[in-house]
Amino acid sequence: MERERMEYDVVIVGAGPSGLAAAIRLKQLAAEAGSELAVCVIEKGSEVGAHILSGAVFEPRALNELLPDWRERGAPLVTPAVDDRFLLLTQSRAFRLPTPPQMHNRGNYIISIANLCRWLGKEAEALGVEIYPGFAAAEVLYDELGRVRGVATGAQGIGKDGQPTAQFQPGVELIAKETLFAEGCRGSLTKSLEAQFDLRRDSGPQTYGIGIKELWEVDPAQHHPGRVIHTIGWPLDRKTYGGSFLYHLENRQVAVGFVIGLDYDNPYLSPFEEFQRFKTHPAIRPTFAGGRRIAYGARALNEGGFQAIPRVSFPGGLVIGCAAGFLDVPKIKGSHTAMKSGMVAAETVFRRLRGDPTADYRSALAASWIWPELRAARNIRPAFRHGLWAGLLYAALDTYLFRGKAPWTFAHSADHRHLRPAKEAQRIAYPKPDGIVSFDRLSSVFISNTNHEENQPSHLKLRDPAKAISVNYAIYDSPEQRYCPAGVYEILKDSDGTNPRLQINAPNCVHCKTCDIKDPTQNIDWVVPEGGGGPNYPNM
Ligand SMILES: Cc1cc2nc3c(=O)[nH]c(=O)nc-3n(C[C@H](O)[C@H](O)[C@H](O)COP(=O)(O)OP(=O)(O)OC[C@H]3O[C@@H](n4cnc5c(N)ncnc54)[C@H](O)[C@@H]3O)c2cc1C
Ligand code: SF4
Repeated sequence: MERERMEYDVVIVGAGPSGLAAAIRLKQLAAEAGSELAVCVIEKGSEVGAHILSGAVFEPRALNELLPDWRERGAPLVTPAVDDRFLLLTQSRAFRLPTPPQMHNRGNYIISIANLCRWLGKEAEALGVEIYPGFAAAEVLYDELGRVRGVATGAQGIGKDGQPTAQFQPGVELIAKETLFAEGCRGSLTKSLEAQFDLRRDSGPQTYGIGIKELWEVDPAQHHPGRVIHTIGWPLDRKTYGGSFLYHLENRQVAVGFVIGLDYDNPYLSPFEEFQRFKTHPAIRPTFAGGRRIAYGARALNEGGFQAIPRVSFPGGLVIGCAAGFLDVPKIKGSHTAMKSGMVAAETVFRRLRGDPTADYRSALAASWIWPELRAARNIRPAFRHGLWAGLLYAALDTYLFRGKAPWTFAHSADHRHLRPAKEAQRIAYPKPDGIVSFDRLSSVFISNTNHEENQPSHLKLRDPAKAISVNYAIYDSPEQRYCPAGVYEILKDSDGTNPRLQINAPNCVHCKTCDIKDPTQNIDWVVPEGGGGPNYPNM
């Protein structure tokens, strides 16, 4: 069956903050110039926002530039951040530390980025952008000269056996003069573009964290709208980078999450269990006891910062937002830079489409406020590789003494290289969930509303299936059983404990991308499942 073909000036892959800001900016520029511009956004989630998971404390700088009248237009920014707290936890106590300047949030808002995207999506559509949720871009299309000429969505209705079912529908080719890749952290097509165009030839490797989040409705007595709490320390050991966030939104809601650097070395560490254990701390538990957990999800985030920004353009397209890695790590914020990069990309592409060959995305980014912000922050995250105390000390020196202008830049190494063999690592005994503030994985995945068509090929591809046992099981005791926040990977054995084999419960996948990042031999490739599959997050 032939694939249908649709033609646009610009196709944008991903309806996150970066993709939607780019779409809006393109239409604004076309309107100002009195010209027509056909812009299409495709989104793998069942609706805009369904796959968006963030904190989030939102810095409105890019939004102020994009839509200065966002208040009048009803943007969902209703809870100003008014109270910042930074805590160091030990097992039984909490010590309040001075809040680092990067974590001061006056002027920012506690929001749901998913809801911001739903609103941006409506703004984009009102300007004439075509948005197609439920369509996953599965393939980059190239012309005979190797230039990107668009993307193709995946076919629907291919069975587990790889054969078309009665529901088969071929994918659609979306042809564009310029294609913007806005897939967010560890985008699957962006990964293929990095290889195709060697985009990392003069940057360091990207590094990541996994963020696991829950949304709670808490007891009114525990609710302090506008309060922002970050913690470091317990339950993590001092070598492992990470910490928590608690953001008090409107409507008695508290967003709570835990982020762990994916350069951790103990294969027995379970980010999910660390998060559950964190909530049982005597200083944290009261917020949630008496409350109700509403939603759960997980998503990787970039931690590589300035030195990990790859080449961001290639013939026929650009990479924007967290797909390129513009998150400011000490601030734990990437939505403002994602939006700004989308706007800068839109301005570059618009000039190019009007025949200006000098329009250059990277130099425009370098001239924007993204560059000095990320440059100043570049050494803080890598300093934590030497442990919590060394990291805190260096962060203070870098912030107050060097003011982000130290004449050196710390290098990164890829996260998957850091796991130690299981025999050199200590097992971690995690407490059983109490069902009040801590929970198990399956009941958690249940409230992520994850749903995939069961009869489709697995979207979690093992390059060499034998390695699941010969390497992952034999050397690392199958760490994917523990780092996957959705319980997708399971080692099954015969009743006598022999014959270990890996079972992949792909329908449970919440699209966090951790397995694609952390697998020690990079044997797991996450590719898009059928469009519309995956979590259905409400206001995450
Ligand atoms: C736990 C956590 C906490 C965070 N806290 C904050 C915070 O407090 N403040 C802040 O500013 N930032 C925060 N961030 C970062 C922020 O969420 C990101 O920087 C921001 O969402 C990046 O926007 P984006 O558009 O680049 O990508 P995303 O928001 O990831 O959006 C990408 C979109 O593209 C879609 N997509 C991906 N691949 C395809 C494909 N092949 N085909 C079709 N669609 C596709 C996805 O489904 C998704 O909707 C946090 C992130 C995490 C994980
Ligand atoms: S299978 Fe991979 S991408 Fe899916 S939830 Fe598990 S770790 Fe995340």
